[in-house]
Amino acid sequence: MKEFKAQSKKLLDLVVNSIYVNREIFLRELISNASDAIDKRRFMSLTDASLDADFGIELKADKAARTLTVSDNGIGMNEKELEDCLGVIAASGTEAFKKERGKTDGEQLIGQFGVGFYAAFMVADNITVISRKAGEQSAYKWESDGVEGFDISPAERADAGTDVIIRLKADGDDESYSEFLESYRLSQLVKKYSDYIRYPIRMLTEKPIEGGAKAEETTVLNSMTPVWKKPKSELGETELDDFYKSAFRDYRAPLINISTRVEGAVDYTALLFVPSEPSFDYYTKDYKRGLSLYCNGVLIMDKCAELVPEYLGFVRGVVDTPDLALNISRETLQHDRRLVAIANGLEKKILAEFDKLLKNDREKYEKVFAQFGKALKFGAYDNFGANKDKLKDLLLYYSDADKKLVTIKEYVAKLDEKAPILYACGETTEKIAMLPQIEGARENGKDVLHFTDPVDEFIARMIEDYDGHKFENIASGADNGKTKSAEHKELLKRMEARLKGKAAVTATDKLKSYPVCLAAKGDVSLEMERIMEAMGGGVKAERVLQVNLDHPIVKSMDGMDDDKFADCVTVLYNEALIAEGYKTEPEFLSALNRLIGGASCQTENAKVCGGDKKQPRKKPAAKKAAQSATTDKPESGEAPTEGVDK
Ligand code: ADP
Ligand code: MG
Repeated sequence: MKEFKAQSKKLLDLVVNSIYVNREIFLRELISNASDAIDKRRFMSLTDASLDADFGIELKADKAARTLTVSDNGIGMNEKELEDCLGVIAASGTEAFKKERGKTDGEQLIGQFGVGFYAAFMVADNITVISRKAGEQSAYKWESDGVEGFDISPAERADAGTDVIIRLKADGDDESYSEFLESYRLSQLVKKYSDYIRYPIRMLTEKPIEGGAKAEETTVLNSMTPVWKKPKSELGETELDDFYKSAFRDYRAPLINISTRVEGAVDYTALLFVPSEPSFDYYTKDYKRGLSLYCNGVLIMDKCAELVPEYLGFVRGVVDTPDLALNISRETLQHDRRLVAIANGLEKKILAEFDKLLKNDREKYEKVFAQFGKALKFGAYDNFGANKDKLKDLLLYYSDADKKLVTIKEYVAKLDEKAPILYACGETTEKIAMLPQIEGARENGKDVLHFTDPVDEFIARMIEDYDGHKFENIASGADNGKTKSAEHKELLKRMEARLKGKAAVTATDKLKSYPVCLAAKGDVSLEMERIMEAMGGGVKAERVLQVNLDHPIVKSMDGMDDDKFADCVTVLYNEALIAEGYKTEPEFLSALNRLIGGASCQTENAKVCGGDKKQPRKKPAAKKAAQSATTDKPESGEAPTEGVDK
């Protein structure tokens, strides 16, 4: 018996116990070797026709003997090669072949490290290799239990090629190896890892026939040509959709597919899909983004997250490249600038494709946006807006004037120079359409973008300005209407005093049929305050009650007695809260009822008018209240238990 060299022993132990995470990949490694062997023979047959054959790989399981055989009619190995290639771990005959032949011949070959073969010892306690080199007459047998060493002896083989016969380990208490004798499992593994090996991988199974005899049945397990390598002209009408459905387990056809082939510093082919809608777990932590990464048709990684930026995580697909620095197990990748180059290329390609769709097939783009617009917005906002310039022209907003989705660019095209981009925030377009402030904009012929996603306003802050046009919230306190007279100023001051610090009061010309609206001054808008609140933060907006001084209700408040004035302010403030989607204050209903009830209500018991326990008002109390209202002290007649504003 020849011993494995000392380092080899250690290395063998390493391969079997540490390099691979998934022991099922042993089959991928054996099939890859068979494919490499066939490739080598095929290259040689180009100059020596006698070496040509009907190339293929065969799998055969023998349950009684617990063996799985992987056979190929490739180049084969002679005695010396068996010793050199299989006796020395980390010696790769394939790597040597690639070096000798140069890039064009060697490019498709998979082997590189000279350890894949030994992965079979993860599942086998004995491996026998019978091989006959193409063009030579004698065959040899290599045999090893994977511990001490190996034996080589003369053998018989009818044709050139190699059989790798692995004897599976006995099943243990919590480990089963017998699964690798089952046809369904083998075909599953071939589909998963080796579907695009360019030679047929046949499985031989025995099927009982009449009279107790058995017949051999052959099934081809792999599809060989990957759809992404097929020229467009050869693709069937639904072939890409069918591929998507089966590869990504989605019964609905994708919205769009994108294929790209790049040759240059890094060569790769990619086939990408935008699903018809986000997968059910897309917005959860459980969602794993990533594209399937193939190296020469062999699956390396199911979901390689590095290939797509987070915000494009909804894109599914495959990338195939011969140019990768794989680590030795080929299960993970070295962080490699080629991978980064591919990822950058794909991001550009996807965004360019979206842009094309936006220009040429608006309807389709809107479908994509309806499903994944949130993801794009997230991309524009995330990372301190690092991607905002790439994404800002792909965002769509509902235009109040056009009653349809528009891009910021389209909106800006209608603006006068330097005019601001007006927007309004709200849960839905319907709710925004009912905001008091929007009337003024409409009256003045101004369009307003509807921001219905919480993130929209943050994006606007991030973009800052678009071609010199600044974003402006129509509910911002910025626009102060002119107070036309001293009486007006007095009125606003009186209202503000009544509000006791809940909001400042200013005049506005934004309103038409509404008397008041709520706005915020400073950096934090009402919308932002709400988002921050939901996130647990305590950032407060500085509220402003904006008042339409031309409104009859407001006009009627001039000189009103203090009790009624207080109720009016309460009702108006709460009206503004309602319009903004807030809850009303507890004192709102009783104030409203008193106003509706008018004089009769003030003399009746308060029960008739509403839920608060205030005593019916008396004239003297009202006088006192008038003083306290202007000095901003709590009103004596007011019940302290209610009417607390938070
Ligand atoms: P790698 O494939 O990375 O080179 P392996 O450990 O898988 O490493 O295989 C070692 C070497 O053994 C290969 O490079 C090849 O020269 C040889 N070899 C393995 N399997 C076969 C086969 N089926 N036919 C011919 N040569 C083989
Ligand atoms: Mg190999």
